[in-house]
Amino acid sequence: MTVGNKRNGEPFSSDDVDILLTLSVHAAVAIDNARFVIEIEKHASTDGLTGCLNHRELQGYLDQEVERAARYGKEFSFLMIDVDHFKFINDAHGHPAGDVMLKNLVGVIHGLIRPVDLLARYGGEEFSVILPETNREGAKRVAERIRKAVDESPFTTPQGHPVHLSVSIGIASFPLDANTRSGLVNAADQALFTAKGGGRNQCCYYSETPVSLIPKDQSRLATLLQDPMLKSLADLASGIEARNPYYRDHSQRVLQLGTRMAEALDLGEQDIRSLQWASLFHDIGMASVPEAILNKWGPLTLEEREAIRAHPHLAEVLFKGSVRFESALPVVLHHHERYDGQGYPKGLRGEEIPFLARVLSVIDTYLALVSVRPYQPRFTREEAIAELRRSAGTQLDPRIVEVLVGLLKDSGDPEPRS
Ligand code: GH3
Ligand code: MG
Ligand code: MG
Repeated sequence: MTVGNKRNGEPFSSDDVDILLTLSVHAAVAIDNARFVIEIEKHASTDGLTGCLNHRELQGYLDQEVERAARYGKEFSFLMIDVDHFKFINDAHGHPAGDVMLKNLVGVIHGLIRPVDLLARYGGEEFSVILPETNREGAKRVAERIRKAVDESPFTTPQGHPVHLSVSIGIASFPLDANTRSGLVNAADQALFTAKGGGRNQCCYYSETPVSLIPKDQSRLATLLQDPMLKSLADLASGIEARNPYYRDHSQRVLQLGTRMAEALDLGEQDIRSLQWASLFHDIGMASVPEAILNKWGPLTLEEREAIRAHPHLAEVLFKGSVRFESALPVVLHHHERYDGQGYPKGLRGEEIPFLARVLSVIDTYLALVSVRPYQPRFTREEAIAELRRSAGTQLDPRIVEVLVGLLKDSGDPEPRS
């Protein structure tokens, strides 16, 4: 526990020290307990709450199934099930009631699958089912059966309140959609995101063509926003990331580096806030871009490129009129401008681009280079620095690039994680 100086400049009293000691002892015990529980959970093969297989076991079975299906030339399918708006169930009835709902949900699902099928708790309120020797049509039938049964089941909390649950399900099949464990999980995950985006309480194949979802007139975003539950920006931002393996944690990482850059650039209070908000929400407009496009391998069609290039504008729609975000808006709107004027949406050049937008662009580019992406191997820090310097003056503001490079070299950070 680190304690700074008192605001009023007075020395710490012995009472203060007592309080801090008591607090730190409590915190230490809590941390110890949490570590202990994690340790115990690691040794169990089933999930304590629901009794299904746990995440680790699932990975093992999935590996086995991939190997078996590959050897005997069989198909199998994998479902990723996520409870819709479960946060609201917790909010309305409390976490203990939420836990009971999860148990009951598992009971319903168990009743609908064959003994050879494996149900696992993937994590939180997400469950997976391995369906051996099941092709995508068969998998869709099972998924649809589960979805319908959950939708029609009358759940009740321990306090006797009726609760309606629904689930969204992503379906991926071996070898049609992917032929590795992680490939299947990613594919099912993306199908799940399509199901969520399509309005929840539905099942989607990975291969189901999300191109039809391309917003011609921001209509997908409009649909998303009509959903009152999704009105919260933070939800939207974390939703985008949670369902997209390549964006997972991206905005948090931009925020962290952005905060350090703000320090290195000696920005004022207001600019720091703007840069932080913009860091967190710079890709929020991506909500309207279908996964299939975000993660596409190979060149994009004109239509697909347009869908991506619209994303800063969508942020404008979201931020307009919000006092808190207004100052971050120009930063988000222009973070894809290029120093040489070849960027979007306005083709601004050099100093015409708002300063903080140039800063965000350097950070975003660096973090993209050192992340795993669908179309490129990830760069080491040294490679990324070389690439940033290569882009200085064309894509990026050369002075800001040098500030970031200085920061990276000084900090002695370990290699960025993938
Ligand atoms: P949606 O999936 O439809 O986008 O909305 P959601 O509200 O379900 O959002 P998300 O899947 O992102 O969040 C899952 C929530 O489920 C977060 C957490 O509060 C809750 N949750 C996760 N694990 C548990 C658990 O073991 N018990 C309880 N009671 N709640 C959990
Ligand atoms: Mg979830
Ligand atoms: Mg959920």
